[in-house]
Amino acid sequence: MSIFTKIISGELPSYKVAESEEFFAFLDINPNAYGHTLVVPKEEEDRIFDLSNDAYLRLMDFTYKVAKAIERAVPCKRVGMSVIGLEVPHVHVHLVPLQEMADIQFTKKVTLTKQEFATLAAKIDSEFKVLN
Ligand code: AMP
Repeated sequence: MSIFTKIISGELPSYKVAESEEFFAFLDINPNAYGHTLVVPKEEEDRIFDLSNDAYLRLMDFTYKVAKAIERAVPCKRVGMSVIGLEVPHVHVHLVPLQEMADIQFTKKVTLTKQEFATLAAKIDSEFKVLN
């Protein structure tokens, strides 16, 4: 069972920003930038291109909605998107609010307090609910 499956089931804590029947989005705990979010299918699959075409398109549709909420909640030049998966073998899309190229390079990290994580997650969650 992946660490993200444990997050989705509530066994491990997370700062949730959006959820549907099929998908779950939460703040990355070691963010590249303020607002860095992960979008995850609830069903555990390792590689994104092993998803069915339909499941992939539904993931992109949900990711689009989460990105729109992030854009409203976090001032940024644009929201960047990346899929890596070398660390956690459970499909996840990184959405990163960008100010500069370094924000999407996974070497630059920012530190947030628990309170900052919670406030940020609530802000994105409320924008997601306004839009959906
Ligand atoms: P990768 O698999 O290389 O795409 O990276 C996995 C990402 O998951 C990294 O950006 C981690 O910071 C993030 N991550 C790992 N564990 C957690 C967790 N418990 N809560 C939130 N994000 C996590």
